[in-house]
Amino acid sequence: MATVLLTVPHAACPRVMSDPLHSCDTAAPRAAQELYAALERVGISAQLLVADVPRKYSDMNRYESRGSEWRTKVEAAMSGHGKRPKLLLDVHSFPARSAESPDDVFYGKAMVVMILEKFTTELGKKIIIGGGKEVIQYSRNFPWQAEMVKYVEKTARMPIGMTYGSLANDLMVRAEQSGIPSALLEFSEDLNRQNMKQICDALAKFVSESVAGER
Ligand SMILES: [Zn+2]
Repeated sequence: MATVLLTVPHAACPRVMSDPLHSCDTAAPRAAQELYAALERVGISAQLLVADVPRKYSDMNRYESRGSEWRTKVEAAMSGHGKRPKLLLDVHSFPARSAESPDDVFYGKAMVVMILEKFTTELGKKIIIGGGKEVIQYSRNFPWQAEMVKYVEKTARMPIGMTYGSLANDLMVRAEQSGIPSALLEFSEDLNRQNMKQICDALAKFVSESVAGER
């Protein structure tokens, strides 16, 4: 089984994009492909599961989609027939125009890493302060995701943010419940191919040097 499970729950766009809401993650499928290739280059096997149902019909990152065909595939990948993946990276993207305020955690970011508060250590909670603005103070014992943010920012030389996501993020919930560490990656839809590749290379390097290797 693959070491890293990559999911893209909001890959499918509806035929008519009349929805004022963010109806699909337009950059997420290519970000996930790029990450898959970057992991392969550093010798990490990945499984990529891209959803084909638009979120307006059923949101594949929500509880309601459990039991659907795609979620059943994700469950099978998570159980790995006894050999679970060591990591779930749930890939999304956000339109830069959606973050126009400097108070927004997405503002000016190339990527934002979202994690579930419930599964974060008490110490981790002290060093990541949510509420719109992210403040990361690095200490010796921060959660691995904060380490990843710092690593990618330094290696890819691009602004990376970090924030808490709610328990509505059902793919991460299911992963953590299955004992698989998880992170949700929100890529900016303004990233050019070169910048996206730089971020994915940095992510892959981090995974190969830390998470996947240790566990
Ligand atoms: Zn999304």
